Amino acid sequence: MADGNVKKDMLNKNSLCGVYRMIFERSRTAVFITDRFFCISEANAAAEKLSGYGPGEISSMKLSEMIIAEGPSSQIFKGDNAFTDEGSSFAARLIKKDKTAVAAEISVKKISGGIFIVSADISKINKTDDSPDKINIIEYTIHATLDALPLWIAYGDTLGNYQFANKYYSATFKLPIENIIGHNFKEIFPPDLYKKHKLLYDECIKTCCSVTFEDKVTLENGLTAYAYGLYTPLFAEDKTVYGVSVASFDITAKKELELQIQKAFDETKESEEKYRTLVENSICGIGIKEGDKIIYANKTLMKMFGYDDFKEFSSKKTTDYQTPESQKKVKIWMDKKSIGEADDDQIEVDIIHKSGKLITVVLNSADIKIDGKTYTQSAFIDITERKKLKEALKEWTLRYEYIVEASGQLAYDYNLTNGEISWETKPEKLLGYKTKELKSTIKTWSELLHPQDREKSVKKLNEAEGVMLDDEYRLRHKDGHYVWVRDRGIFLRDESGRAIRQIGMLQDISGLKNAEIELISAMQQAESASKAKSVFLANISHEIRTPMNGIMGFTNLLGSSGLNERQKEFNSIIKESCAHLMKLVDDLLDFSNIETKKLKLENAPFNIHYALISSIEIVSEYYKAKNLELEKFVDERINYLVIGDQLRFKQIVINLLTNAIKYTSKGKIGIKILQSSLNEGVSNITIEVSDTGIGIPREKIGEIFEMFHQLGDSNTSRHGGSGIGLSIVKGLIEIMGGNIRVESEPEKGSKFIVELPFNIVRNKG
Ligand code: ADP
Repeated sequence: MADGNVKKDMLNKNSLCGVYRMIFERSRTAVFITDRFFCISEANAAAEKLSGYGPGEISSMKLSEMIIAEGPSSQIFKGDNAFTDEGSSFAARLIKKDKTAVAAEISVKKISGGIFIVSADISKINKTDDSPDKINIIEYTIHATLDALPLWIAYGDTLGNYQFANKYYSATFKLPIENIIGHNFKEIFPPDLYKKHKLLYDECIKTCCSVTFEDKVTLENGLTAYAYGLYTPLFAEDKTVYGVSVASFDITAKKELELQIQKAFDETKESEEKYRTLVENSICGIGIKEGDKIIYANKTLMKMFGYDDFKEFSSKKTTDYQTPESQKKVKIWMDKKSIGEADDDQIEVDIIHKSGKLITVVLNSADIKIDGKTYTQSAFIDITERKKLKEALKEWTLRYEYIVEASGQLAYDYNLTNGEISWETKPEKLLGYKTKELKSTIKTWSELLHPQDREKSVKKLNEAEGVMLDDEYRLRHKDGHYVWVRDRGIFLRDESGRAIRQIGMLQDISGLKNAEIELISAMQQAESASKAKSVFLANISHEIRTPMNGIMGFTNLLGSSGLNERQKEFNSIIKESCAHLMKLVDDLLDFSNIETKKLKLENAPFNIHYALISSIEIVSEYYKAKNLELEKFVDERINYLVIGDQLRFKQIVINLLTNAIKYTSKGKIGIKILQSSLNEGVSNITIEVSDTGIGIPREKIGEIFEMFHQLGDSNTSRHGGSGIGLSIVKGLIEIMGGNIRVESEPEKGSKFIVELPFNIVRNKG
């Protein structure tokens, strides 16, 4: 630029003077005088007119700001390199002050002194019969029109350098026109968009045909916009393409509409599909008929009627599926329905299943109009099972009611959350009140409770522990007396385990309760009587024993006082009777002690074998006197001492042996002592005492262990006994933790089997 100013005067003086200057001034071709950097120093009137710049403006401009060359010469005015060619001419666009462009034939001529004359001839390119002014007006009008359009309009050279862009275009890219014209669209477009458009642009040039495009862009505000456009080749006279115009417009609204339509279409399709699936798989059978003809049935309906194939199903008329009664029923209902007098909008009818069975359905119908035709749409619900269940339930409910009624119990349903209680059966029988006389509240129940039972029973109910409540208490009858009831109710709980309901029954147990009370008092009386008896027995035994000892002592003295034979005989009878009496007294004392649980056992080691031998010794006199044989067996494994009460053990053995001898007149008696088991220091000993005596009848076996029990008077009188021995034996054995049983056959003999557990002392036998 500086260079240009320096040269200006020189140019004026030397280069253009006189006639040349006039030619320069008046030339209709626009002429610019520049330095070698194409910095304008002067322009003629035509140049000023063409460019639209005034004389003051133009002289400091660079040609590169005004003329955009095309083709190989495109860089001619750009850059800071000095132009060295002698001259050249080329096609270019001249950008006017108003930013419109005009095609021009540019010729550059170098004059001496580094001065260039650049002329722009628009007449060659914009060939027209019109005058240049007119051309400019048209061009201006076109550009003004394009500026006014809400379309993106631009055109550029074959390389994509803008020659024109309308206002809408510059506004969209937020760039002033001068920052667009002469620039390549590569600088303006985002990279991706440029890539796409470069291909389209080149294709348009290459194919010499219009190319359309559609763009989807995300705007700054995040919304999506759509544009549709067209690249059109611009042809020179020689049919070569010298540029490309683009016109595109915003189709966002159209696109959105299209998208909405598509979406609506998809949704319709989807919802249609949804409804189809819904209807097909509906739990109720759905059918549509036209007159009597079935025109649609969903799968559920066909399955309900026993069909798989619609053709087969629809080959019958709807009435064919109804029993004659159902046909009548449906007809009446439909008729009433049509005049709005039907009681119910559904009806229960029997349908003939394919198998011939009848099924009960609930039918609901409505008329629908499609394309002017009337159809009936019906919904069916199979209630066959439900009906059966309902009937069964009714039957069960009735039965339950009868049972509860018959039992005379009062059933209740108590809601623990609100304190409401409902009396499920008539309370009259139990409490004398009619149902309506009893308030449905738990308060009523607690008011009827006996004061002595109230605290306990209310607490028990409120605690609601366990699955069931089982309580006994008294409720006041209407006539004032109290009724003993047994209350048994099941608690129903919520998810957290809190009891929310109780269902149960009140049973009148007054009879049982009174009997129980009587029984308890009888037992108490009996107990005290038995206690008194035992005390009496213990006392009397001691009382008898003292004089008996005296009698025994003096009888012995009497025996050695020189009695004659007859007196000796009397004396020995007295002695025998005394011994017998003493035994009886001892037995009574034992029995009394066993019964009152006062008997204390010794716990000392003893030898079972020795105890047996000594017991046999005591009875030997008796069996020998009766000429009976005695068989004895002791298990050799019992080689240890046992811990227990030796005297009581001997008492058991002697008693059983004495009985065996007593009730056997011939044959033998036997005693076996066996070790039935030995475990962890405990030996289970079995004692078997057998005889070949009179035996015991089977039906009497259970009685012989009872106190004072004797079989038949003749036996007792014949064998002499008190009927107390076995009950003492049994009592002793049980205190020792054992048991006794008997096997016997009349006239063949008896076997008493005793099992006794003993702790043992090892290796002391
Ligand atoms: P008693 O003193 O009468 O023998 P027990 O209590 O010892 O009293 O016996 C009860 C009854 O059992 C006897 O009266 C007798 O009838 C019957 N009894 C007991 N042992 C035998 C036995 N070995 N053989 C037959 N009967 C027996």
